[in-house]
Amino acid sequence: MSKKIAVLTSGGDAPGMNACVRAVIRSGIKSGCDMYVIYDGYKGLVEGKIEQVDRNFVSDIINRGGTILRTARLPEFKEDAIQKMAVKQLSDYGIDSLIVIGGDGTYRGAAELAKKGVHTVGIPGTIDNDIASTEYTIGFDTCCNTICECVDKIRDTTTSHQRCTFIEVMGNKCGDLALYSGVAEGVEMIITPDDPIEDEKVFEKLKSLKGGKKKHSLVIVSEKIYPNIFEFVKKVTEKTGIETRAEILGHLQRGGSPTSKDRIEATRFGIAAVQAILDGESSICLGLHNGKIRRINIDEALAMKRPENHELLEAIKLVNR
Ligand code: ATP
Repeated sequence: MSKKIAVLTSGGDAPGMNACVRAVIRSGIKSGCDMYVIYDGYKGLVEGKIEQVDRNFVSDIINRGGTILRTARLPEFKEDAIQKMAVKQLSDYGIDSLIVIGGDGTYRGAAELAKKGVHTVGIPGTIDNDIASTEYTIGFDTCCNTICECVDKIRDTTTSHQRCTFIEVMGNKCGDLALYSGVAEGVEMIITPDDPIEDEKVFEKLKSLKGGKKKHSLVIVSEKIYPNIFEFVKKVTEKTGIETRAEILGHLQRGGSPTSKDRIEATRFGIAAVQAILDGESSICLGLHNGKIRRINIDEALAMKRPENHELLEAIKLVNR
């Protein structure tokens, strides 16, 4: 009897999730498995939104943003009774293995299902790059590029008006999106949870820049640093005398066609997840380390602490004023 494997996407959507689903479905079929998709994450699993698919189901999705399997959040999935409903749905289809693409919360759900006998493998999919057990998450590169496109445009108007603009980007509690896009844009200041800057120091730095040749400045800030960035830039204007505006990039950061890097890493992760299932693994997640995909126990992965990215932060100080 052939092995039956299902795949779902969960948590926030990320560009490259479709490329990953495609790799899971196609490599599974090529290995002789029956492949299933589940719509709407764990919510859809509990509701039985399960469908067997063939290789054509994932045609022409490698370049598409979002997730064709859609995603949802189901806080009640922490409850034992709800998890049992999910296990029952899978067993009704004869499915014993589940690949989940998402973040830490999604991994927690997979670990719970593994305790109830489902073979689970997690793949890191989130724009935030905030998963401690991997150096890279699917969607991060596309999101950085999207932020850069936006900042390029904001730069044009900021320069023309000789203003200062604060740009707030996503990242959850992780500063990587701000740091990498800030380095790629050569902005005057990058403010992240790893490198928060006191308000007075922000004012001083901007005032010191004002005296130079460059009459505009760009600052990239991680979300959740300032409770209200619009109020904060009013204070910046008052304290520095520089006309300062704020832009929150918001959900446009999640969208768009995945970059080649995201398509390739997503494809590698998808193939590796199916292989892990075929090797009899369960309750593991995949992580990228020095370019290689590693298997890590989910409980161990969730206990890991994200290393702070001081190296890049320090290096950039040699380039910036
Ligand atoms: P992102 O980083 O994009 O937010 P995520 O996977 O961390 O992705 P969450 O909303 O935290 O997103 O989790 C996704 C889903 O996983 C939740 O809606 C819930 O159904 C399930 N989940 C989260 N935490 C747990 C838990 N402790 N036990 C069981 N299931 C969980």
